[in-house]
Amino acid sequence: MDSRRNFLQTLSASILALSIPQHGFASIEDFYSKPYEGPVLRVAIMGLGSYGTRVAEAMQACKMAKLVGLISGTPSKIKNWQSKYNIPEKNCYNYENFDLIKDNPDIDAVYVITPNALHHDQVIRVAKAGKHVICEKPMALNAKEGQEMIEACRKANVKLLVGYRMHFEPKTLEIIRMRKEGELGKIMFFQGLCGFKIGDPTQWRLNKQLAGGGSLMDIGIYAINGARYMVGEEPVWVTAQETKTNPEKFKEGVDESIQFQFGFPGGAVASCLSSYNMSNLDRFFLAAEKGFAELQPSTGYGPIRGRTNKGELNHPHVTHQTVQMEKMAGIILTNEPAQVPVDGEEALKDLKIIDAIYLAVKTGKKINLKL
Ligand code: NDP
Repeated sequence: MDSRRNFLQTLSASILALSIPQHGFASIEDFYSKPYEGPVLRVAIMGLGSYGTRVAEAMQACKMAKLVGLISGTPSKIKNWQSKYNIPEKNCYNYENFDLIKDNPDIDAVYVITPNALHHDQVIRVAKAGKHVICEKPMALNAKEGQEMIEACRKANVKLLVGYRMHFEPKTLEIIRMRKEGELGKIMFFQGLCGFKIGDPTQWRLNKQLAGGGSLMDIGIYAINGARYMVGEEPVWVTAQETKTNPEKFKEGVDESIQFQFGFPGGAVASCLSSYNMSNLDRFFLAAEKGFAELQPSTGYGPIRGRTNKGELNHPHVTHQTVQMEKMAGIILTNEPAQVPVDGEEALKDLKIIDAIYLAVKTGKKINLKL
């Protein structure tokens, strides 16, 4: 109980520091100090794997979002999760029968946390069942799939959000605030380094069929997305080069490392590296006319560390997935605005860039972007 109280205090201090409004309360202190009786987003998680487990744990501290349902292909996991989280049998589904969720009034949204290649069909099926969808990154394997998912959700009149947890991270948001308010001056350069040394060669992340690619789909997407929110513009061109040192492990269509460069309309450029073969690669750096901003680590689960030309950023660490789910509940239930968008359109831009990076690698050409 104490750790929960401490967590909520840290969370509230941090959200307070960002002045993020919270549903129906005079202040964020008010929100966390009083019993909450407002609307709650009732969520089913699809895919009870490593990240699904992390999200479920983090949701236990949420006031506006609650784990109420499970969708899984592994009956033993369903059993364990049911007893751990007190989930009734009637809210449990498998991949064959989850369309029946349309007849379940006790579930509002499904959080899809399965391998990348499955997102497209699963999101469309959830939308057709009339439930809101939160989908993990990358939203799909390419822009065409992404567009189809957006259209399916629009047609079904449900919201589509994507798990961009860094869009709610306090130090990241502080740098975005400084950039927006002109404290850094004109943005000149962004560097995004994102990677880790991947293990088990048999995992789905190294299977083109399930992953849709390699490091770029999984971790390089953070540098793509980060370049956009740090610079505050959409890139207009991209160039890219691939390096493969281990073709045995990183088979055809599974990239080991890709370097890519962006040009932005205001004149800024970006230089990024995505890799499955380097550890300690987690850094953003923004150079501007009046100052700089640095995040290292920049996109891990935290604590994120940040500094600018004005000094260290001291915002307290918050569990990313708790804040994300709290804020996403607000977006879905009460149309609260997101400071940095987390909708399907936002994810589609990253997918268009991923398509262009793979094309640039293949052709060796500079690819123009229209986002
Ligand atoms: P895991 O392999 O740990 O879990 C994936 C789960 O999906 C499995 O446990 C399984 O759950 C289900 N699944 C359904 N079909 C398959 C299949 N054919 N092969 C393997 N698993 C299957 O992966 P992660 O949890 O690490 O990643 C899932 C998604 O979350 C990915 O899209 C990834 O990019 C994203 N992610 C996002 C992160 C973030 O920080 N935003 C961090 C990590 C991952 P079950 O047995 O219940 O069916």
